[in-house]
Amino acid sequence: MKNFSYINAGSVAAAIRTLSTKGSILHAGGTDLLGCMRDEIVPIERVVSISGLKELKGISAQPDGGLKIGALTTISEVATNASIAEKAAVLAQAATEVASPQLRNQGTIGGNICQRPRCWYFRGDFHCARKGGDLCYAMDGENQYHAIFGGGPCFFVHPSDTAVALVALQAQLAIAGPAGNKMIKIEDFFVGPDKNIQKENVLAPSEIVTAIHLPSVSGRVRSSYRKIRARRAWDFALASVGLVLQFENQNVSKARIVLGGVGPYPWRVEAAEKLLIGKKIDGAVAAAAGQAATEGASPMRDNGYKVQMVQGAVEESLLGMA
Ligand SMILES: Cc1cc2nc3c(=O)[nH]c(=O)nc-3n(C[C@H](O)[C@H](O)[C@H](O)COP(=O)(O)OP(=O)(O)OC[C@H]3O[C@@H](n4cnc5c(N)ncnc54)[C@H](O)[C@@H]3O)c2cc1C
Ligand code: SF4
Repeated sequence: MKNFSYINAGSVAAAIRTLSTKGSILHAGGTDLLGCMRDEIVPIERVVSISGLKELKGISAQPDGGLKIGALTTISEVATNASIAEKAAVLAQAATEVASPQLRNQGTIGGNICQRPRCWYFRGDFHCARKGGDLCYAMDGENQYHAIFGGGPCFFVHPSDTAVALVALQAQLAIAGPAGNKMIKIEDFFVGPDKNIQKENVLAPSEIVTAIHLPSVSGRVRSSYRKIRARRAWDFALASVGLVLQFENQNVSKARIVLGGVGPYPWRVEAAEKLLIGKKIDGAVAAAAGQAATEGASPMRDNGYKVQMVQGAVEESLLGMA
């Protein structure tokens, strides 16, 4: 690993100032950053750590009934927090499915949504298009874990479990930067490769996600997260489904269905959502929604299995909720 300097920022403002120096990168829990540094994915001269900032840690109820999750809150805390389990089960379940207990204890939710792609060419010795080269090696290479939605000119899949749940929950992100503070919808945070092949989100180099806000819920809302992986031990999703449904009597009145492991960002499937509105979930409705969830899918040579996997996962998740 190349030598680098390490700066322990005493405040968000100090971190933002230091990050504006070329070659600097933000450090939260370090579980993804360390691998990126070892693999020399990006040239890094200065690591700016916010890991000691208490004001970015913890989960609190908000006056409007929503929840605020500090960006440095560990994934373990998100997985086990009683308010999140009660108001946002999809997020608690997604956090529980992240990596291993050690990684959940060290990794933060802010770092989880900002982690870099896991494409094996990107992490390996390949100067692929995402690293500034000319080629996407996955196009004609080993692409069994790559995108079936939103691919081209890069075909990576976003690796975060919690991001899928947060999009399903319509979370907002608080971002601090040189120009001040702002809030954005999480759906506006991620960037597809058609817009920018070298970035996964809209953050400028010296901007920091400081918190995640979950809106309040009213009425009969239920949610769930289902993840399919190649093995039961820690692994990234081959496909996953985040589901948030609101019911009136026995019928669905609002629906959010978001897929993970299949596109460059959490992939919302509006066709499947629309199909559920006004209906009671039974076998036929769940199967139809599963089919609708893969409308527009464009599998590569080796990942066609993800189409049936998504259909089955959506169908099963809906039946589980019914
Ligand atoms: C073996 C292994 C298995 C894994 N399995 C899974 C899995 O199944 N599911 C899953 O979702 N994840 C998985 N991960 C990823 C893991 O969850 C992330 O590494 C972790 O969440 C990152 O959090 P961190 O605090 O350690 O971030 P860091 O490593 O400190 O940072 C990660 C990146 O995000 C940036 N960053 C961090 N915090 C912020 C912030 N607040 N604002 C702006 N930028 C920020 C950093 O600059 C860096 O580029 C796995 C990781 C490993 C190593
Ligand atoms: S999928 Fe993206 S990250 Fe992977 S090799 Fe292609 S350009 Fe690189």
